[in-house]
Amino acid sequence: MLWPGIFKLGKELELKRIDLEVVGMIKNCFVKLYDGRNMKVLELFAPEINDADKEHIINRLNETKVKKFEWLEYGIKIIFNEYLRPYSTKKIKSIIIDICDYFSEKYPGQKLHCQKCGNLNDLDVYSYGTASLAVCADCQKSSEIEIENINTETRYAPDNYFSGFIGSLLYSIPGILATIVMFVFLNALAAISSVLYVFLGIKGYKKFKGKTTRFGAFLIILSTLIMVGLGIILSYCVYIIKELGIFDIDMLIYILKIPEVQQEIIKNIAVSYIVSGVYLVFQLIKLMREWKTEITIKKAQEL
Ligand SMILES: [Zn+2]
Repeated sequence: MLWPGIFKLGKELELKRIDLEVVGMIKNCFVKLYDGRNMKVLELFAPEINDADKEHIINRLNETKVKKFEWLEYGIKIIFNEYLRPYSTKKIKSIIIDICDYFSEKYPGQKLHCQKCGNLNDLDVYSYGTASLAVCADCQKSSEIEIENINTETRYAPDNYFSGFIGSLLYSIPGILATIVMFVFLNALAAISSVLYVFLGIKGYKKFKGKTTRFGAFLIILSTLIMVGLGIILSYCVYIIKELGIFDIDMLIYILKIPEVQQEIIKNIAVSYIVSGVYLVFQLIKLMREWKTEITIKKAQEL
């Protein structure tokens, strides 16, 4: 949500909103305000910024004891820290007004640089899925076409489920080696290595261009379950062979058939599933968010 402080500031400055940002032109500057963790952030872009302008802004910020800021291309990003209580919107407002007044007097009638092509032009604010930008009409038009193409590509991507699944399995093979090394040679908790399968499985699925849908996520889960189980079973095999001192397949099968051994293997697999499961859920949530990528273009709206 848009927090009340930013909302109020936006209203007073007659700005508009896009997602969780308040944006707009003030005189010949582009202003962007949003909340961060324990902070309010102001991004301000001017037609030009030279060293004298920077000096002027720094002096103005020093008056209000604002110390955190960084220079952007033709702009500045100012952080207003809020540890115990919100930073005074009154102070932020007066900083914005002062700086915008300064630039409009210094560069009267001069236009802003388009944030995509850099041309000096009439700009409008749009959000392209992530952050909002002030762009010219030409850039907006070409972005629209570009984004429509990307969206069409995702919409009609071939159903590469099988290759994605294979990729996921193949990439997980080093996970098996890690489990064996940890379990047999280091006597460490092999379950920890199961996290590796998740990481590698997702990587493999992506590399083999698996289709990015819910079913794709299910295939990654399936591959992780198979490979974690396989890793533990193979680890036991290596362990038994190492203890026996010889490779005797009949003996190996005989030992694997002992109920106590089977129970222990199942117990180990279960622990590994629990360990990797937590990480898997976390990663899949992240992935699904990433995959929900029909990019939408939004225009700033009235507050
Ligand atoms: Zn442009």
